[in-house]
Amino acid sequence: MTLSFDNSYARLPAGFFEPQPADPVPDPALVALNRDLAARLGLDGDWLAGPEGLAMLAGNAMPEGAEPIAQAYAGHQFGGFVPRLGDGRAVLLGEVVAPDGARFDLALKGSGRTAFSRGRSDGRAWIGPVLREYVLSEAMAALGVPTTRALAAVTTGATVSRDGRQRPGAILTRVAASHMRVGTFQYFAARGDTDALETLCNYAITRHYPDADGPLGLLRAVAAAQGELIAAWMSFGFVHGVMNTDNMAISGETIDYGPCAFLDEYHPRKVFSSIDQFGRYAFGQQPQIAIWNLAQLATSLLPLMGEKDAAIEAASAAVDSFIPIYQAAWLKRFGAKIGLADASEDDLPLIHSLLERMATEQADFTRVFSALWRDPDAARTEFTESLAFDQWAEDWRARLQDEPDPRAVMARANPQRIARNHQVEAMIEAALAGDYDPFHNLNAALADPFVSDARFLKYETAPRPKERVSRTFC
Ligand code: AMP
Ligand code: MG
Ligand code: MG
Repeated sequence: MTLSFDNSYARLPAGFFEPQPADPVPDPALVALNRDLAARLGLDGDWLAGPEGLAMLAGNAMPEGAEPIAQAYAGHQFGGFVPRLGDGRAVLLGEVVAPDGARFDLALKGSGRTAFSRGRSDGRAWIGPVLREYVLSEAMAALGVPTTRALAAVTTGATVSRDGRQRPGAILTRVAASHMRVGTFQYFAARGDTDALETLCNYAITRHYPDADGPLGLLRAVAAAQGELIAAWMSFGFVHGVMNTDNMAISGETIDYGPCAFLDEYHPRKVFSSIDQFGRYAFGQQPQIAIWNLAQLATSLLPLMGEKDAAIEAASAAVDSFIPIYQAAWLKRFGAKIGLADASEDDLPLIHSLLERMATEQADFTRVFSALWRDPDAARTEFTESLAFDQWAEDWRARLQDEPDPRAVMARANPQRIARNHQVEAMIEAALAGDYDPFHNLNAALADPFVSDARFLKYETAPRPKERVSRTFC
């Protein structure tokens, strides 16, 4: 089989990327191939699993039509601007157009040094983060959250040195609507390259938001997509962990799974990432950070927006348009989580009252909501002080009197299983010992997260105190 690539990004002007020839690895082996996703893309799973496919997934040989490139971008990392980041350990192989006409980037992550790799960093990844991203991004897709996807994971046969240890090297094949980031716009804005900025803006509009009118329309469209996205994250207890502007996709997909995590016990100030010392990217901060990132996109687009004062005013309004979209999406999702088909602002106190009690009582985010519709008596046992739940439940039951089918609404909004940190860690430990069963089991358990399944009860339980993972690494 041949892949039919159509590499529109590689046709952009030279400064947008650097060509990146394949960087071979000694002994590639396939760990996982996502055949459902391959079919969605119109790719032949058997070919991908065969020698030619494996050579592509390992970066050892490029199929005809691939034009491997490393993309240029900048970004604010923890608030500090870095004018040149770029793909330091990722390579875009090209774009494939699915049978339904949708266009997807096919990229390798961990495939070796590029023109954008900094210092002595190796451009590689080890098996831990690769399997982590595979599981978490596929779990998010199964929850219905816009996200990049994992097509494959391979081991390279080489080792990677991390924290003084030799680890098995691995490569993830990432599928994305595109890899344009807020930081891509910042890259050209920081160089004062208005022509490139305009080219990028037009390209982004054509590719993602064909109805958007110019830079302001693009900004509004990105704000709307991010408003929906962050509300979805919040409703499933997802903490991205590194919401730097280079990790915010223009497409509105979740991108760059590093030290991300799903909450066990709920608390808005919860942080997992070992590199987030001050809690900048804590769970409850995420909507504010999204606005901050959108403001950076707005600033980058200003040179395309005409007269300065008017442009600033319009751009500010476009950034602020995130707020009502986020709030409405949040209310819809959290209303549904407690059984309200069409929650209104009058319901906000009821929702917040539950969340406050959960935070005080260290209640497990996923288990409280999944118990609500299966067995509210089980929900009360998730609180250290069950009375806190009982008091809330009185008002809740009164409110549910008006709802035709609250259990059905809750069943669709509340997953039974999420990618629990302790399960993810155990999966990585097993993989390091050569046992990939936990990886495959975890994927299977998370593929249909809203349906309770006796085979997967282990993944529906919260960690015991000594199993609890409070720090994640990338
Ligand atoms: P991230 O924290 O994943 O968003 O990455 C931030 C920047 O560091 C990006 O430009 C990456 O390409 C680069 N980077 C991260 N890890 C490596 C690595 N192992 N080798 C080279 N560059 C890297
Ligand atoms: Mg990144
Ligand atoms: Mg990363």
